[in-house]
This record gives sequence, C-alpha cells and structure tokens, in this order.
Amino acid sequence: MKYIIGTRGSNLALVQANMVKDKLQEKYPEDSFEIKVIKTQGDKILDRPLEAIGQKGVFVKEIEKEILENEVQIGVHSMKDMPAEPEEGLIFTKAWKREDPRDAFIINDHIYGKVKGDSFEILKENAVIGTGSKRRGYQFKKIRPDAEIVDIRGNVETRIRKMYEQNLDGIILAAAGLKRLNKEEVVYKYFSTEEMICAPAQGVLAIEIRKDNLELKEKIDSLSDAESDNEAKGERTYLKEIDGDCHLPIAARCERINEKEYKIDALFGSVDGNKLEKIMLQGDKPEELGKKAAEVIRKKVTGTVYLIGAGPGDPDLLTVKGAKLLEKADCIIYDRLVSKELLGYAKPNAELVYVGKENKKHTLPQSEINRLLVKKALEHEVIVRLKGGDPYVFGRGGEEGIYLNQHQVKWQVVPGVTSAVAGLAYAGIPITHRGISRGFRVVTAHDKDDKLTNLDFESMVKGQETLVFLMGLSKVKEITDNLVSAGMKKDMKAAVVSKATTKEQKVVISDLENLDKEVKKQEIKSPAIIVVGEVVGLAKELDFITRFSLENEKNIILPQIGEKSKLAEELKKNENL
Ligand code: SAH
Repeated sequence: MKYIIGTRGSNLALVQANMVKDKLQEKYPEDSFEIKVIKTQGDKILDRPLEAIGQKGVFVKEIEKEILENEVQIGVHSMKDMPAEPEEGLIFTKAWKREDPRDAFIINDHIYGKVKGDSFEILKENAVIGTGSKRRGYQFKKIRPDAEIVDIRGNVETRIRKMYEQNLDGIILAAAGLKRLNKEEVVYKYFSTEEMICAPAQGVLAIEIRKDNLELKEKIDSLSDAESDNEAKGERTYLKEIDGDCHLPIAARCERINEKEYKIDALFGSVDGNKLEKIMLQGDKPEELGKKAAEVIRKKVTGTVYLIGAGPGDPDLLTVKGAKLLEKADCIIYDRLVSKELLGYAKPNAELVYVGKENKKHTLPQSEINRLLVKKALEHEVIVRLKGGDPYVFGRGGEEGIYLNQHQVKWQVVPGVTSAVAGLAYAGIPITHRGISRGFRVVTAHDKDDKLTNLDFESMVKGQETLVFLMGLSKVKEITDNLVSAGMKKDMKAAVVSKATTKEQKVVISDLENLDKEVKKQEIKSPAIIVVGEVVGLAKELDFITRFSLENEKNIILPQIGEKSKLAEELKKNENL
C-alpha cells in the first residue's frame, strides 16, 4: 500500500512527519510512505494573534480536508494544537511515545549572556517575555508578577529571531519542539509542573486518519506507547470536559506517580486572567481524573447564571430584581422576544450574546444554548440568561437549570411577567373574573411535530376556564374548529392579542366562528396570544389603554432605562446624613 502523510511546512512539522514516516516505513517495509506539504490558513496569516483568526483548527483544516477526500491518508500535527474532538469522520490513533511535555524558558543571551539556571530572579524588573499563549503568559505572571507579556507568533525559529529583533528578555516555548529540532541548547530552564502546567497532551504527536481506515489504524496503533496514551487521555478528557474556548488558558498534565496511581494537575482561567484556578487530583484512572478535574475546577471558577424573565414586551414590565441583575451582568444572553431596550441596563463592557429563536428557524439549537451558558459561566461572574415573559412558561428555563446542575454551575431563576397573563391585561382582558371564569389554562399550540394532536379539547370545553394558547397564530382555525367540534358554542368570545404590551400591540376581539377570518383580514403578526372565554367580553370595560390614552399627560412618567431614579438617589443621600 502507498500512504501519503500530510503536514504543514514548518521545520518542526516536517521533522515530526518524517519521524512518523520513518517509524512506519521501518515497521512496514512492504508499504510505501510519502510526505505531502499542505499550506494551512494558520500559516498564511502570520501577523495577527491566534485568537483573532479563529479556532485551534486553523492549522489543520486543510490537512483534514485532504484526509477526508483520501488525497492523503495520514495527517501529523501536534496534539496540543488539536481541538478536543477530532473532525467528523476522522480519528486520532493511539499516542506514541511522548516527547518532553514541559515548557521551556529561552533567555535572550544578547542581554544576559549564555547562562543556564534554576530561578527567574536573573530577569531584570519588568522583563518583557514573549509568548503567543495565555496559558503560558498568565502562569508566568504568577512567578514574576512584574513581567510584561507580549504576543509573538510563528514557528520556533521565527520566535527566537523575534526575541532578538524585539529585544525581549526571553520567550517560552514547548520543550518537545526544541528537542525534536535539536535546539535544546537555547533552553535556560525547564518549567516544573508547579510553575507551569503544560497544554493538554503537549509533546504528543497527533496522528489523524479516516475513521473507516481500520487497517491503517491497526498499523499505526501497533507503534503506540501505553503510558503516553494514558497520559494523553487524561489530559484530553479534561480539555473536552472543561469545554472552554481555545482562547482561554487551559492546561493539564497527567502522570503516573506509583504502580497504581496517576495524578493530574489542571488549570483553567478567564480571558483576562483574573480567574486562574489550579487543582491537583490523584486516582487510578486517567480519564476519570480528567473528568473529575474539570468538575472540580468548574465548581471553583464558574459564576452564577440568572435565568431572568424579561416580561412580555413593555420594557418596564421587567421585575426590579431582574433590572438590578442586568446592571450587574458581565454577560447577557438574550432571546428574540426580549425587548432590546432592556439591554440599556447593561454595563458598557458587558458581553451581549443574541441567541434569538424564530419559529422553525432556530438561530441556535437549545443544546448549543445550554453549552454556551456553561462556557460563559466559566468566563464571567454574573451571567444573565434573559428570556421573554417568564422563563418557565414555555421558555425552556427548566432544561437550562438541569443542564447547569449537571455541569456544576450555580444558577437562580428570576420569574418574569408572563405574556399569557399580562398580554391579556393590556388588551383589557382579565384572565379570571369572579362569576365569569373559575380559572385559566395556558397551553402551547406548538409541539415537537408542530401538530395539535396532544391537546385535550374535550376537557377544555367542560371547564369554566379561560383558555390561553401560546405559539398558535398559524393555527387559529384549527384551534377554534377543534373547540367547536368538542362542543363549545360558536359564539363563545375569543380574541387574539399581537405584540402585546408593546407600542405595536393589536387586539382582535371576535368569537370562535369568526376569529380566524378577522385575524387574516387584519394581517395580525406574531408573537400573538389566542384567548377563548367569556372574560373576553370584559374588554369593553377594562381596556384601560384606549380608555385613558387621552389623559396620557397625567400619567406618571417612568424614568428611562439606564437612568438612575432621582428619588432613589435622594433617599440614599438622606440615609447617609
Ligand atoms: N415565556 C414566554 C412565552 C414563550 S413562548 C412568556 O412567559 O410570555 C412564545 C409565545 O409567547 C409566542 O408565540 C406568543 O404566543 C407568546 N408571546 C410572548 N410575548 C408576546 C407578546 N408580546 N405578545 C403576544 N404574544 C406573546
């Protein structure tokens, strides 16, 4: 068989690919192995920091594409640069013998002379240190808080050159790369795990092949090293479970400490380095250690997620607790039905993430939103998940709470004013009324299959309850027909309230027989609530908006969002007197 090995073109990448080629060739002399150099996006963009050009995958995408297309059969990369999960359709083979996993410090010998040492005291005050990695930068700052960290990129040779050109005091590089390039002599000192935890699986080669290429997998795995594979599994399990963005400082080192046991040192930090947590655990199974480490660290670093009900539309219908938390939030993850004015409460530097859902056109699936919540909880202290109405009224708030529990993230719910009640109120329809309605029932007209099959119309007709249908605008006819078939009288009062509590609110008051026609005639838009019951008749009396709009001037003017209430300020001053 002939196998082609795809690799980047840097010296280190070529050395690594040739190592793989030579080992395979030696073991399988009947096969032939060739190297093909593939230029990746990461190689083409050299002038910007890594995080500005996207995910870790920038150095591998093109190679992976060629493996998938069978242009090449084997991809060789550094495992520390690989995302937690391989590309769909591809796998990593078992780890071969690992090269030195430590990080190494290169001192600028033009400044300090050709020295080797064991401490960083040699560095002058405010020494300038180059590294492209936040993991290395923040850990180095723990050793020398006065150091200034600058971003440098490029392959090993480029970085060493830049150290001289930019007159940096030193740079930090992976020991494995230096050793493979026979450049160990430039190392001033290797970091201990206590000083600097390495990137997950640093020093391990990632050998990537197609998932279905079982014969090749067997060949490559026959050269694997059980201990290195265990270490890599422990560290990469941590990486996968912590599920943080690649621009965050993440580190893990797993190693055997005796016959039975391993230890894992793991680290996680926020983008700005304000949060930086380290832990050490011991146990007998590397993968379990990786998982446990992620759990323990998450518990330590995650902030609190507040699932806040934003109210039905009118921004002033947010609760006071909700408003206070919005002002404090470091990150706000909000939905489509949320009034954008509420974002006025946000601090200037708060991160705002839109995950709006439009019916049938989900911008972000729920599973992704759940993951995003955990991710943001790792990065921030106060995370607000802002949802229309009340988070538990068809808001999937419960699912988010359960997911957050499973991922050791603290959370609280701040109930909101639901459109199911308040939307009717703004249309003059009280959801209950003595002698007219004995209760209410709020149902969704939208299920997984977008059918109404699961609704029990018979029981709806029997009770003397106000019926409220959410997410039902496209099914007005079906709903009214079903109610009539189940025995409800055709002239039962029914209404639709669209964009309730907003400036664009529209109300259609009708009966079961005519509601659908009216809704179409008036071109009613979603979101809309359908309400059926005698209480609809009270709108004549209770539509306070139309009734009192002429007297608007007399209404209390509420402060603008984001503008501090003058009264509260005054009260505070008096308190301090
Ligand atoms: N959690 C929300 C409901 C989410 S389901 C709440 O408590 O209000 C989304 C549905 O709510 C919409 O399809 C619509 O039926 C209803 N809805 C939400 N806001 C609305 C509004 N301002 N006007 C009319 N209906 C609204």
